[in-house]
This record gives sequence, C-alpha cells and structure tokens, in this order.
Amino acid sequence: MLAVALLAALCLPGATRAQSSGDGATYTIVPGDTLGAIATRYSIPLDALIAANGIEDPSLIRAGQELIIPNADGSLPVAAVAATTETGTVRALAGETIATLATRFDQEPALVAELNGAPLSRRLFPGQPVQIPGQAVPPPAVNFGAIAAVDVPAAIVQGRTGRIYVDTSRPLLLRGDWNGQPLVFTAIGDDGLRQFAFVPVDSLLEQGTYPLNLGYITTRGDFVQRAWPVQVETGPYEYQEIVVSEDKAAVLTPDVVIAERERVVETWSQLTPSFFWEQPFQRPIDTDYPTTSPFGTRRTYSVADIGNFHAGQDFGAPEGTLITAPAPGVVVLSEPLAVRGNAVIIDHGRGVFTGYWHMSERKVETGMWVNAGDVLGLVGNTGLSTGAHLHWELRINGVAVDPMQFIDEPPFVGPEPAATAASQ
Ligand SMILES: [Zn+2]
Repeated sequence: MLAVALLAALCLPGATRAQSSGDGATYTIVPGDTLGAIATRYSIPLDALIAANGIEDPSLIRAGQELIIPNADGSLPVAAVAATTETGTVRALAGETIATLATRFDQEPALVAELNGAPLSRRLFPGQPVQIPGQAVPPPAVNFGAIAAVDVPAAIVQGRTGRIYVDTSRPLLLRGDWNGQPLVFTAIGDDGLRQFAFVPVDSLLEQGTYPLNLGYITTRGDFVQRAWPVQVETGPYEYQEIVVSEDKAAVLTPDVVIAERERVVETWSQLTPSFFWEQPFQRPIDTDYPTTSPFGTRRTYSVADIGNFHAGQDFGAPEGTLITAPAPGVVVLSEPLAVRGNAVIIDHGRGVFTGYWHMSERKVETGMWVNAGDVLGLVGNTGLSTGAHLHWELRINGVAVDPMQFIDEPPFVGPEPAATAASQ
C-alpha cells in the first residue's frame, strides 16, 4: 500500500487567526488546515499539539475550532494570513545581502529570506535575481521560497486530467486552485517533500488559458502564491441526440432527475484522507466488449434535464456480464436510481470516484472495501438506458473526466522528483 502523508488543501485560504492571550496562544482552524501543517507552522512537535488539545482523533478537526498552541509566546504571528502576496523578481546590487536588499525595497527581511530559501546574511552577487513580495512583474524563473520545483502541464485537452507535481524543501501545506476548483494535494513518499494534484478539465470548458494558482503559508504566516498558465485545448468529441422511449420518459420528471443528481453529487463530493491506488486502472469489463459510446460526446435528450454531454464511457455487453472494480476503494453508494438504474459508486480516495450505472444486479453493499478485479455487479438495462451496457464514469473533485486515460496511465509518477524546474 502506498505510504501517504496528508497535506491536503480543501479550500482556498481564508483569514487565518492566531491570537495571544493571558493563558498562551490560540489558533482558529481554517478550511484546508491539517494538524501537521499547523504544528509545522508554529515549529512545535505534532504530538505536543495533539496532547495540549486533548485530541483523540487527529482527522476530526474542523474549521472554526480553536487550538491551544503550546509553548507559544507573544511572538506568534497575530495575523497569519494578511492577504494573498504576489511575488516578483528584483536584482541585487553589488555588496548587498538579503537583509539590505529587503530594506532597500521596504520589505520584511525575514519574509524575503523565506521566499528565497536563504539566510538574512546571504551575500548576493550583482544582478542576482531575488524574490520579494508585492512587485507587479513577471514571475521569476527559479526559486519560489520553500517550493523547489513545480511541474505544471502547459496544456490539457477538454475532459482529460492533468497532473501537477510540486517538490518542496520542507513539508508544506500547499494551496492552489485552477478555474475556480481547489487543487487537492497528496504527498508521494514518506518525507512529504513531493506532492501531486489532479487537474480535471470539464469536457465543456471553453478553449483558452486559465491560470493555475499555487502557494503556501510561510513560517512567518504570510501567504505567498504564484500563477502558471494552463491552456485548455478542444477535445475530439462528437454530437448525438438521444431519444428516450415514452414509458421511460414518463418516470423521469424534473423532480426525480434533480433529486437523483443531488444524491450522487453529494456522494462524490466527499474527500477521503487516504489515496487508495497507484497502478493504472484495470478495465471494468472484459476486453471482448468494446466501447459503444465514448466519454465526452455532446448530447441532447428528448426528456428532462439529463445533461448535455456523455459523462462516462459505455461498453456494450450482454445482460449478466461481470463488472469488476478497476482499482481499490470503498463502495460509497449501491442502490437503484431512476436515471442511472442499479448504480454503484466507489471512492478511490482524495476526491476520486468511479460510477457504474444500469446494472441488472448489484453484488456489493455500501461500506464494503473492494480490490481491483472484485465483482461489483452485472451488466443490465435499468434506468435511462436503451440496451444492455455498462456506463462507467470517473469523477475527480466532482468533475467528470475520461476514465480511459486511467487505464493507460498510472495516477501519478513517483517517487523520484520531476526533472522540470520551477516555472518552465
Ligand atoms: Zn453512458
């Protein structure tokens, strides 16, 4: 099983508050915090933080909860995240150090030192690029504080999933977003110095350039971030019209369709702490059964508001054909639905879910653990289906993406660091 250290960022950073009081310092948890990251930020052992707060289950912290920061004095940052800090590059003059350069640009020397991963006394050569906060200049080509290397895809095709890899000089709580979606970072390996996140691209997202923002909170408590451009390219998707028979259309009232959508969206909107798989997906159905309708086809339906594109991959197969799990995970839904028929959803961890619709029979129950190859159910024609087939769907952070990509590729590459340097 893959060793996973958790450095998850669930949400974009909000206002972080740490206050000193007569009894010592308290800290208010914000969305995306983990105990490990808080301990790192205040340079205290994780055990000490857990003990000081009498925490029985470290995974059950919640936003808004107050923590006692042991051994803290008045030197704690009182406004840990004042604002998002843009950074820029300036050039050193002859004889300057980090400290004197910071003073020249009216910046906090410790923050400049942190951003550049160098001590205050570091002597700089003339013309050497140095990062400082608050400059409206293009991002520098190298060095981003404790972030040593960032590998961001330059372009992703509609409906495909990009990967971002970040190497850091110390374990960091990375925070990022792309096109309004928070990036969910997961550490690869035991040292917590390499993390990856999926960048799932909606198949209907318009072609164009969308900035990917990435940042972290420095040891001083400042949030620093930088943006990378990611191009979205048009996918090779066709168009089809689906005519639904009148007897099936009769049960698909808007109320039924909307309630069912809320049920499945609620299911795949959870975020499990662990990541459960590291090998490419196995095919969920025997290779004898080909694709009959690929992911991403633009669709119109003759009934209700079913959707406007094909959110999964269809395999035509006779009723009763075995459907198997492509990768390990936990069954989080197994029930009959009006549109999706007999349905199963598996949680593969860290916001990744697969769905199996239209089964004749379900062979698993909610809460069961499954391994790759375990039988989930049998092919059928239940729900909104025009013939026996398996509809296989992959959701990452709620976004439907092409599941076939994960048969061809492992979920991430690791643990060796990416060759790509920062900002290339
Ligand atoms: Zn389908």
